[in-house]
Amino acid sequence: MFKKVDPKQNFPKLEEKILKFWRKNKTFEKSVKNRPKSKTFSFYDGPPYATGMPHYGHLLAGTIKDVVPRYKTMQGYRVERVWGWDTHGLPIENIVEQDLNFKTKLHIREYGIDKFNEKCRESVLTYIKEWRKIVERTGRWVDIENAYITMDIKYMESVWWVFKSLWDKDLIYKSHKVLPYCPRCATGLSNFEVGLEYQDKTDKAITVKFELEDEPGTYFLAWTTTPWTLPGNLALAVGKDIKYVKIKSGKNKYILAKDRLEIYKEDLTGKTEEEILGKDLVGKKYKPIFPYYKNPKKAFEVISGNFVSTEDGTGIVHIAPAFGEDDYNVAKENNIDFFMPVDDLGHFTLEVFDYSGKGVIEFETNEQITKDLKDKVLKTEYYSHAYPHCWRCKTPLIYKAIDSWFVRIDKLKKQAIENNKKIHWVPDFVGKGRFQKMLESAPDWNISRNRFWGVPLPVWVCKKCNKTQVFGSVKELEESAGKKISDIHLHKLLDVKIKCQCGSLMELTGEVLDVWFDSGSMPYASIHYPFENKEKFQRDFPADFIAEGIDQTRGWFYSLLILGTALFGKSPYKNVVVNGIVLTEDGQKMSKSLNNYPDPMEVVEKYGADSLRFYMMGSPAVKAEDLCFSEKGVDEVFKKIVLTLWNSYSFFVTYASLDNFKPKNKLNTDNVLDKWIISKLNNLIKSITDKMERYELSLVIREPSDFIEELSNWYIRRSRKRFWKSENDTDKLAAYETLYWVLINYCKLLAPFSPFITDEIWQNLVREIDPKREKSIHLSDWPKADEKMLHNELEEKMTMIKSAVELGLSERAKNGIKVRQPLSKLTIETPLEPRQNLLDVVADEINVKKVLLKKGKKLAVSLDTKITPELKKEGLARELVRQIQEARKKAGFNVEDRIKIYFETKSKALKETISEFQEKQDYSIKRETLAREINEEKSRDIDYESKLKVNGEEIWLGLKKIKK
Ligand SMILES: [Zn+2]
Ligand SMILES: [Zn+2]
Repeated sequence: MFKKVDPKQNFPKLEEKILKFWRKNKTFEKSVKNRPKSKTFSFYDGPPYATGMPHYGHLLAGTIKDVVPRYKTMQGYRVERVWGWDTHGLPIENIVEQDLNFKTKLHIREYGIDKFNEKCRESVLTYIKEWRKIVERTGRWVDIENAYITMDIKYMESVWWVFKSLWDKDLIYKSHKVLPYCPRCATGLSNFEVGLEYQDKTDKAITVKFELEDEPGTYFLAWTTTPWTLPGNLALAVGKDIKYVKIKSGKNKYILAKDRLEIYKEDLTGKTEEEILGKDLVGKKYKPIFPYYKNPKKAFEVISGNFVSTEDGTGIVHIAPAFGEDDYNVAKENNIDFFMPVDDLGHFTLEVFDYSGKGVIEFETNEQITKDLKDKVLKTEYYSHAYPHCWRCKTPLIYKAIDSWFVRIDKLKKQAIENNKKIHWVPDFVGKGRFQKMLESAPDWNISRNRFWGVPLPVWVCKKCNKTQVFGSVKELEESAGKKISDIHLHKLLDVKIKCQCGSLMELTGEVLDVWFDSGSMPYASIHYPFENKEKFQRDFPADFIAEGIDQTRGWFYSLLILGTALFGKSPYKNVVVNGIVLTEDGQKMSKSLNNYPDPMEVVEKYGADSLRFYMMGSPAVKAEDLCFSEKGVDEVFKKIVLTLWNSYSFFVTYASLDNFKPKNKLNTDNVLDKWIISKLNNLIKSITDKMERYELSLVIREPSDFIEELSNWYIRRSRKRFWKSENDTDKLAAYETLYWVLINYCKLLAPFSPFITDEIWQNLVREIDPKREKSIHLSDWPKADEKMLHNELEEKMTMIKSAVELGLSERAKNGIKVRQPLSKLTIETPLEPRQNLLDVVADEINVKKVLLKKGKKLAVSLDTKITPELKKEGLARELVRQIQEARKKAGFNVEDRIKIYFETKSKALKETISEFQEKQDYSIKRETLAREINEEKSRDIDYESKLKVNGEEIWLGLKKIKK
């Protein structure tokens, strides 16, 4: 027998109960182990940081990562899911720096790299407990217990192996290049890190005068938005084919592009004296504006550059080789000298004696430089623009020439682009658009950071003879170093010296790897490949499925593909689902300090995780679009799906228990409603399976939500009376079997999305009947559609019938006739030819005696609104029944309680109606109200009494519950 169902169920509480049940029975572990090793579906989990609490973005990606594996498990696959933690890099270092109140990297050196790194190690897993709690509470099944941790020596050793493998393939090199650089973190970044954080910044743009050496009083004009780069100026660049003019203004003459004259018309008021082509300016010398660069070999002259345009500035570009990629390259091509006036921390060096020690990005420094240039400045403007900032410490970035290590993307690009074409991206446009473009334009990947807490580059270099040795395992290093090594973090390796052939000693180069190199190595490092798990690796690589947010296009998706391509010539993932960004309800960025969004756990505690999950899976965020998170949206899902499902289930259990129904699992489709809903569910199985196979999660949600509405508001409502029939009625049993089968299979389809409520229903509907069945719905198999049960034509007709009912009801409303008042006939004009049993449904819904059909092109109805005395009487009977039902409720009777009715009235109409309709064949007051007897007397032996007005006629009513 089924357990009683609480119609007022508290769902968050129910979920807690299910969580306990899963924990106790190790349901997740079983769901993996029960499936054969020979049929695996492999999944890679991208590692988050545990340095902050999880937010909606994590929950969204986490739900996708849960839904797909749950589905595949039910399809019979073994889906191992192991969590990972990202533990290295600037995010951790910045937190520790803040804790210790360090302002610059110098503080770390003074404090000691060893102590600093140990602090990092301690703080990386600060919120691990909270993460575990939230991940579990939202119903995500993943093995956090055995999570891979990127700071483990085994993980790091595999990263070394990756590095060494690339090194051996000549895919890694060291070079001096201009890179995006954070002066506070004192490290170069990769190009894609630049895009992670833009902020508005006010800057100063100045037009500077450079005096020609052989023409005193004549000046080149160059425009710059970064006055601090001027002490590094070594050249000016012009466009060979650009037309320049020499214009006299006051005592002086100025040279600038002809096209830019208009912009300077207020500053340069004189007449044009001469037009010159750019190529004729090349080679001209000018006087340096600052005295800091002491011994020029080749500097302070005009060169040509093909990047020079007349779109902004003066058409003449000031060249500081240390601070711009174009500057650096064009200077190198023209053999111009190199001068670096800024140190690692973004301060001017001693050589720049006027500003030595000043920070170059400080607004004040730029003000001071402009002021000191005095009459060398023609024009000053302030302007505000979106400027790249460090994604961790939010300091404005600069471009600076430094030594760094790179992966040769140019060598890998072609193959990576080919590999990308084989990846199934959902949605499609991310892979074909944004990602593809990024691959095409990607520069070589800067993988070294001048920081401390990360995987050190396994590179030892001899200072004397420059010999370089790269290690691909701890064992190799131990053999060369002649000692045991148990930790390979930077501070543990600084003392590890290796004997060089030349007799000198080789030392660690000292940089650490980009954290995306760590996470991109995850397919290998998470299982300590190739040192262990070779077989497992063969089996699981490449992953069948991964999922992350769209921001990882430039992060994890990219580093995975590049490293996989470099190592094995293929992409490490076959299918990838990309989710969008979760914003506040009005489209703002979610901000903890602004407190502009509801706490995820509060939402879960209010509506349950099932509703939150279903809401997110039905949102634009599963198609990589933005989701403006709305609590109202969760509430809607809760009411539309969770409550409707629960009410349908509760309805079933209530009646099935009364009738002691035992499912025989035999469907009978004699009744058109059964045939229809069974067909509908089979189609739903087909459709969801098809979409899940294509990972089109965004298309899945709509259909089950429509289905449950039809089940509740059409099938169950239309079938309600069938459940009141006598105990062994075949039609009633068919209705039970149908609803039972529908509920179970519908729950299976919903199980990956809303895992709690579906398992609860499974426990009662399946396990209570047969304890030998699977202990959880998540251990059961995904349903298969039965083609023989599909009746698409019937579904179409039913849709038409529903529309006809709607039209009929609105005809009634227009004429002001209540549905309880029976009418004689309705005529339907329709292109389809529904059978009589469907027309009976209409007759019943619209409350007419007859439904007539007319062949027509379009659906239309006409209603006979004439009310005969006989119809009027029946209307009165139905209104009386309605009021008796109300009275039953008020009396607190249960739906199944049988009653006795007593009445007293002076109304002749009522007396006649009651006697006529007491037990009439097609409408019986007794049957409708579960009354055993109706007595015209004012009894005192009653449980409830009431004075009523029925269509204006007064009546006294008494009800008595019959004890069983
Ligand atoms: Zn920074
Ligand atoms: Zn040497």
